[in-house]
Amino acid sequence: MRLATLRGPDGSLRPALATGGLHVDLAQVVAAAGLRLAQLDAPPEWSDPAGVLRLLRDWDEVTPLLERCAEAAPDLLARGMLEPAVAVLGSPVPRPGKVVCVGLNYADHARETGQPVPASPVLFAKFATCVIGPADDVVRPLGVTDLDYEAELAVVVGRRARHVDAAAALSVVAGYCCANDVSARGPQLNGGQWVRGKSFDTFCPLGPALVSACEVPDPQALGIRCRVDGATRQDSTTAQMVFGVAELVAFCSRAFTLEPGDVILTGTPPGVALGHDPAPWLQPGQTCEVEIDGLGSLRNRIIDEAR
Ligand code: ZN
Repeated sequence: MRLATLRGPDGSLRPALATGGLHVDLAQVVAAAGLRLAQLDAPPEWSDPAGVLRLLRDWDEVTPLLERCAEAAPDLLARGMLEPAVAVLGSPVPRPGKVVCVGLNYADHARETGQPVPASPVLFAKFATCVIGPADDVVRPLGVTDLDYEAELAVVVGRRARHVDAAAALSVVAGYCCANDVSARGPQLNGGQWVRGKSFDTFCPLGPALVSACEVPDPQALGIRCRVDGATRQDSTTAQMVFGVAELVAFCSRAFTLEPGDVILTGTPPGVALGHDPAPWLQPGQTCEVEIDGLGSLRNRIIDEAR
């Protein structure tokens, strides 16, 4: 099951299902299938503009119904009981409670940056305000010339977790999507802390849909790629991760409570612009794509911040 977010012309957001290359408004599927999903009835909140967090908070309860909707959607479309949405997609989780990032989590990427492979996960954060949709523009901030891409597997939490051990850790995962951990290297590396250079507005494209965990039997066996204007810059597999998804979830949960809707970016493989001399920084007008096997792809154009 693939949960997406549709963005209306007025900027309003609503949950949708992705099915066979189309998108259908979740509320319409529920109604057309003769089902009821109480979580859709309440008005949106500032902290949860699309109501996705409400679904994730009740993930165990709503998943079977969402699965039924996903199964019913193709037939409802074929019978004309549903209209496909003209899809402008937002992030499948428009406003995560937190965005936890992991640095240097691919051994070959650590080598590329000249740093040792860490003995335990290196955590940092992006602020949730930098999250954008899978086809939105990434804005290169005024004064930034060293804009970089990082293709990453994003983990979306679906169950509250504290002190979960690695063996049980995947059970708290609602699903997965693609992420681009866009980075302004100067502000990141010259600022003492990474958070500023990682958190400029638009620096976290997510999507195109939250693919439920049951459709991803092994998150450590996914090809992951980044292309800039069609040229491959990163091409690896999540099998190369130093700390896998289960270990990362367990490690995070030993420090802080993971909550439904939290997102963990699991690190990037080699090939970032920073690792090259001269560095092929992202330029306005280019399109940066992140693709992960089975999860679809992000396609974000780079534009300059307006003066
Ligand atoms: Zn990263």
